[in-house]
This record gives sequence, C-alpha cells and structure tokens, in this order.
Amino acid sequence: MINNLSELQKKDLKYVFHPCTQMKDFEENPPLVIKKGDGLYLIDENGNRYMDCISSWWVNLFGHCNKRINKVITEQVNTLEHVIFANFAHEPAAELCEELAKVLPNGLNKFLFSDNGSSCIEMALKLSFQYHLQTGNPQKTKFISLENAYHGETIGALGVGDVDIFIETYRPLIKEGIKVRVPYINTELSNDEFRRLEDECIKELEDLIVKKHNEIACMIVEPMVQGAAGIKIYSARFLKAARELTKKYNIHLIDDEIAMGFGRTGKMFACEHAEIEPDMICIAKGLSSGYYPIAILCITTDIFNAFYADYKEGKSFLHSHTYSGNPLGCRIALEVLKIFKEENILKTVNEKGAYLKQKMNDIFKDKPYVKDIRNIGLIGAIELKDNLLPNIRVGKEIYNLALKKGVFVRPIGNSIYFMPPYVITYEEINKMLQVCKESIEELLKI
Ligand SMILES: *Cc1c(COP(=O)(O)O)cnc(C)c1O
Repeated sequence: MINNLSELQKKDLKYVFHPCTQMKDFEENPPLVIKKGDGLYLIDENGNRYMDCISSWWVNLFGHCNKRINKVITEQVNTLEHVIFANFAHEPAAELCEELAKVLPNGLNKFLFSDNGSSCIEMALKLSFQYHLQTGNPQKTKFISLENAYHGETIGALGVGDVDIFIETYRPLIKEGIKVRVPYINTELSNDEFRRLEDECIKELEDLIVKKHNEIACMIVEPMVQGAAGIKIYSARFLKAARELTKKYNIHLIDDEIAMGFGRTGKMFACEHAEIEPDMICIAKGLSSGYYPIAILCITTDIFNAFYADYKEGKSFLHSHTYSGNPLGCRIALEVLKIFKEENILKTVNEKGAYLKQKMNDIFKDKPYVKDIRNIGLIGAIELKDNLLPNIRVGKEIYNLALKKGVFVRPIGNSIYFMPPYVITYEEINKMLQVCKESIEELLKI
C-alpha cells in the first residue's frame, strides 16, 4: 500500500466502490482526486493537469466547465430544478423534443426519457416486445444483436451484449439474444476480400431473419462503431442491409447512438453514414455533453400509436424512471444542440478527425508493435499486437505511463483509443499521440 495518500484519497478508499474497477488495484495506483475541470483538462489536487483524451467515458463534447452550459444550468436551477414528469410538462423538455425531431433521421418524433444509457436500452427492448404483443404478434419475443455488442450493463442490456468480461459471471441471470456476425473493416483485407466478407455477413443475417422473423421483435445495433469492443468499425453497407431486412420482416431496428451520436463519427448520428431511418434511436452520453445523466429513446409515431388506447385496454407503457425528463438535463441538452448549430461543430469534428487520422498514420504506421490503426470522425484507435508482453496488462501500464506525462487514456484490452472532446486543438492532438507513442515504447523498452 502506498503511504503518502492525501486525506481525500484515504476517505475515498475507505468508502467508495468504484465502477468497473478491481479495488485492489488501487493499492498500487490510488485513484487521482480531481479538483477541477478546464476545457480538455482535468486538474488534480496537486495542480497537475491531464488531457481527458476519452472525454470522461465518451460524454464530454465541449470541454469541462463549458461557459455556455454553466450559464444555462445556473438559470435553470434557479427556475425549476425538478418536477414529476408523469403528471406535468415543462418548457425545457418540450423544446428539446422539438429540436431533436429536427436533427434526427425522418420519422422519429416521439420521445421517452430516462436517466442513463442502459435504462434507455431496457425501454427500447420492452417497448418493441410490447408493440408486437399489442399488434397481433405476441410470439415475437427474441432480440437480434451483433457479435461483440455492448449496450450497457443492466440485466436486459447484457442479454443483447456480447463482451464477455461483462457478461460471463451473470449468464445464469440473462436472457440471451441471437448474435450475428459483423463485417469489420480491417486494413489487412483487400477490397475484394472485404466485399466477400460483407456479402457473407449480410447473407447470414438474411438467412436468420427469413427463417426466424416470426419470433423476432427487434434487432439492436451500435451504428458503424462498436466502442466497448475496442473501437471496432464495420461497414455502412451492412447497416443498410440490416435496415432493409428488418423493415421487410416487421422487425424493429433499434439504433443505439448512445456513444456514437452527437457528431462523434463526423455525422450528427452515426446511422446517417448508411442513410437509414431506424424505428428507434437511443441517445445519452453526449446528449448532455457530460454534464448530466439523461437519456432519451426516440421512436416513430407508428410505435407510439400501438400504445394509444383507452386505459382499460391495458396498452399503456407502464415504465418509469423517477428522474425522467429532469428540467436541468433537458435544458443542458437544448444548449448542446444550440452549440452544434451555432458553432458549426460537425465541420470542426471532421477537420480535426482528418488531422487525427493523418497524424496517427504518420506516427504509428509500420511500427513493429502495431496490429491495426482505425479511424472514423474524431475517434482513433491503435490496436497493439497480441502478446507483446505476456502476463503484463499492457493497457494498464500504458495508462500509468501516459498519465505521468499528463495524458489520460484508458485502453480497452490491446487497443489504445482516442475520443477527445471536440475542443481539443491540433497541437494537443499531436501531444496526445506523441505521449502515447513514448509510453508504448517505454513499456516495450524500444
Ligand atoms: C455507454 C453505453 C451504453 C450504456 O449507457 P450507460 O449510461 O453507461 O448506462 C449503452 N450503449 C452504448 C453503445 C454505450 O456506449
């Protein structure tokens, strides 16, 4: 155990059980106490500054302590902080829905609120099942999802997930969905080989749907990019085919934009790469730019109508989260949409994304330790070769080395990835990549 812990570190370790963490690891590397946020930077209790290269778990778009967002929160908190949303309506929620309908793909114009991504996924799955139940297809009870999928960690969401470390322990509790193969973009494949892989995956999906559509309520996807799987990118053509097949066979397509929505891939929503119109879209994370736990399920009028009936018919969607529609969250999200429009954020994301891609190639291409380099929008991932250092948690070591140099990254397995807030500058992109290169090479002693 390290001796010179600060008072706050001691207090934290005495009481807190941190998320997704083996608490014993803190014996070697105690949690950093963050005192302050400032744009791209997190500042610890000793005044050290760290670049937040993963946007604090993919949520922060416009920097910590953003002036515009701070201002609207202050105004809102002095007006209305919260009100039960079952009985009442309020301006921030109604306005937010109106603005969302303008930027979402066509057809999505009804909105259900919750307070985190996983619960939004739960709503989508329940809603899809109940829709079919109430429109004459009670046998449609199964869910299709993608291999390596991640949709959150509540018990329902784990059933459509496929990242083993999160699921394994809980298998006895989980109702597992049907998983399908995905054509991952991979620099090692030629165009012809990739095309063949795409054809195969689409054919497998088609065969499954043709055979089992009668039992299937919905298909859920992370559009274009599977984040928690280690930033795996697949083709728009596959996504487009999934939309066509699900539409043809009365299966909902649920588009989980929780991580990739709000410009991350260079489009407002990642499904726009495939020019599709999903039946439901889940949004959270960037929706409040990392300020507030809010999630929204966006659905079509067709789905909404299946629940619209006299109360005694029993068709209501009796699902609630206490903090649904919280006015603070709504007001923040409204400002996020304003910032997108007024500051031409998508243009910035694409320009900085192109620069990130170029620089990653300059620095990492042909390095003996690199297996794959992947980019889309303002996201980059470097996958290191397997077994570079047997029995060493390479990701954890790189995290430690980079952190000492003022750069916070949180590798997934062998993939070091970058998902910085959109306010990162070109010089900061350079520094982020250089520090990671140095950290990798320091670890590998080259
Ligand atoms: C983070 C995430 C979720 C779960 O959201 P929480 O707010 O952490 O519950 C679901 N789907 C995707 C794609 C995510 O990245």
